[in-house]
Amino acid sequence: MDNEVSVHPLSDRPTAAWKEISKTQKMYKLNVKIPQKPVEPNKLRFVCMSDTHSLIRNIMFDIPDGDVFIHAGDFTKCGQKDEVLSFDKWIGTLPHKHKIVIAGNHELSFDEKFTNLFKKKIESQSRDMTDEVPHYGKTKDNINDAVNTENIRQYLTNCTYLEDSGLEICGIKIYGTPWQPEFGNWAFNLPRGSECLNKWNRIPSDTDVLITHTPPLGHGDLVCSGVRAGCTELLYTVQKRIQPKYHIFGHIHEGYGVTSDGKIIFVNASTCDINYIPNNLPVVFDIPLPPGH
Ligand code: 5GP
Ligand code: MN
Ligand code: MN
Ligand code: MN
Repeated sequence: MDNEVSVHPLSDRPTAAWKEISKTQKMYKLNVKIPQKPVEPNKLRFVCMSDTHSLIRNIMFDIPDGDVFIHAGDFTKCGQKDEVLSFDKWIGTLPHKHKIVIAGNHELSFDEKFTNLFKKKIESQSRDMTDEVPHYGKTKDNINDAVNTENIRQYLTNCTYLEDSGLEICGIKIYGTPWQPEFGNWAFNLPRGSECLNKWNRIPSDTDVLITHTPPLGHGDLVCSGVRAGCTELLYTVQKRIQPKYHIFGHIHEGYGVTSDGKIIFVNASTCDINYIPNNLPVVFDIPLPPGH
């Protein structure tokens, strides 16, 4: 199969990989505004946010109405039950008929492998662990609380939670997955290369709207320091095999905005900016319904 994706030789070095790959493809920045007119009857309106980090109450803008609301992960600071409960309560107040949520690296309690490992670590190191857990910017109590919550998904009652799974709305196929290239030992971290690719290989080829927490390489993935953080295998999977209409993500807050390779529209919907201030507006677009819907 000529659309099969293999691991890129520079997979471990995304900045160098993009330098190479961008010789043969372009990244266009699109200036997209929130539509002021109601959606046409033959279209479905999508409203996208991400990376709200339990700061919803600080938002200074109205959430635009639409048919489908999408949150691309990092809705909490560390996945504590109280954070999940208040997010669920908030999403329950939104008018959208369909609400879709994926986890990000901050939703520690959603990743069983992470919680099990962390609990073991705490047991073995409890005597020399300080109150502040490195990397997480949270106290040991906060993290303990998160990793010890059982069945966290039960507290998301007002939305559809996707994790390596999909759903179809009016003939439009949507798929969501939380994994990202590892950085700082968070939830849903995976080594770059084949382990990430194995997750992307599960995405059905007929997906119309793909939701990941991580950006692909080259789109919405430029970190303030000048390095690229996106996943090379995700870019190639999306371009060569899936070719969705839209790819929605967040994670790299400073990469907020809409871009394209000339075919696929890439949406970094990070609501929070680099200082964790929820300043960025939701991204809204309308997708024509397939024939018969
Ligand atoms: P978060 O902790 O909310 O997942 O990410 C917040 C910020 O951390 C991002 O906006 C970005 O500046 C930085 N960051 C997250 N993941 C990566 C990564 O893989 N590489 C680099 N260089 N920075 C990252
Ligand atoms: Mn974030
Ligand atoms: Mn396709
Ligand atoms: Mn993130």
